[in-house]
Amino acid sequence: MFICGSCSKYEQQCECERYCMLCQSDYRVRLCEDGYYYCKDCREACDFRSEE
Ligand SMILES: [Zn+2]
Ligand SMILES: [Zn+2]
Repeated sequence: MFICGSCSKYEQQCECERYCMLCQSDYRVRLCEDGYYYCKDCREACDFRSEE
Protein backbone atom coordinates (compact mmCIF):
# COMPACT_ATOMS: atom_id res chain seq x y z
CA MET A 1 0.00 0.00 0.00
CA PHE A 2 1.34 3.41 -0.94
CA ILE A 3 0.91 6.36 1.40
CA CYS A 4 0.28 9.95 0.35
CA GLY A 5 3.29 12.11 1.06
CA SER A 6 1.12 15.05 2.08
CA CYS A 7 -1.39 13.51 4.49
CA SER A 8 0.17 10.09 5.25
CA LYS A 9 -3.04 8.27 4.36
CA TYR A 10 -3.65 5.53 1.89
CA GLU A 11 -4.87 6.48 -1.56
CA GLN A 12 -8.47 5.48 -0.76
CA GLN A 13 -8.58 7.72 2.32
CA CYS A 14 -6.53 10.59 0.91
CA GLU A 15 -8.58 13.72 0.36
CA CYS A 16 -5.75 15.84 -1.01
CA GLU A 17 -6.23 17.62 -4.27
CA ARG A 18 -4.86 15.17 -6.80
CA TYR A 19 -2.81 16.27 -9.70
CA CYS A 20 0.31 15.07 -11.41
CA MET A 21 3.55 16.01 -9.64
CA LEU A 22 5.29 16.50 -12.97
CA CYS A 23 2.84 18.10 -15.36
CA GLN A 24 -0.06 19.20 -13.07
CA SER A 25 -2.52 17.21 -15.16
CA ASP A 26 -5.42 15.49 -13.40
CA TYR A 27 -5.87 12.84 -16.08
CA ARG A 28 -6.02 9.40 -14.43
CA VAL A 29 -3.83 10.51 -11.56
CA ARG A 30 -2.70 7.76 -9.20
CA LEU A 31 -0.54 7.57 -6.12
CA CYS A 32 2.89 6.08 -6.70
CA GLU A 33 5.38 4.58 -4.33
CA ASP A 34 7.26 7.82 -3.68
CA GLY A 35 4.11 9.32 -2.14
CA TYR A 36 3.23 11.64 -4.98
CA TYR A 37 0.51 11.51 -7.59
CA TYR A 38 1.29 11.11 -11.26
CA CYS A 39 -0.90 11.07 -14.34
CA LYS A 40 -1.06 8.12 -16.67
CA ASP A 41 1.26 9.62 -19.26
CA CYS A 42 3.97 10.51 -16.75
CA ARG A 43 3.69 7.14 -15.04
CA GLU A 44 4.26 5.39 -18.32
CA ALA A 45 7.05 7.76 -19.34
CA CYS A 46 8.91 7.41 -16.03
CA ASP A 47 7.94 3.79 -15.33
CA PHE A 48 6.24 4.65 -12.02
CA ARG A 49 3.82 2.07 -10.75
CA SER A 50 0.46 2.66 -9.10
CA GLU A 51 -1.49 0.11 -7.15
CA GLU A 52 -4.13 -1.81 -9.05
ZN1 LIG B 1 -3.18 12.90 0.76
ZN1 LIG C 1 1.85 14.07 -15.64
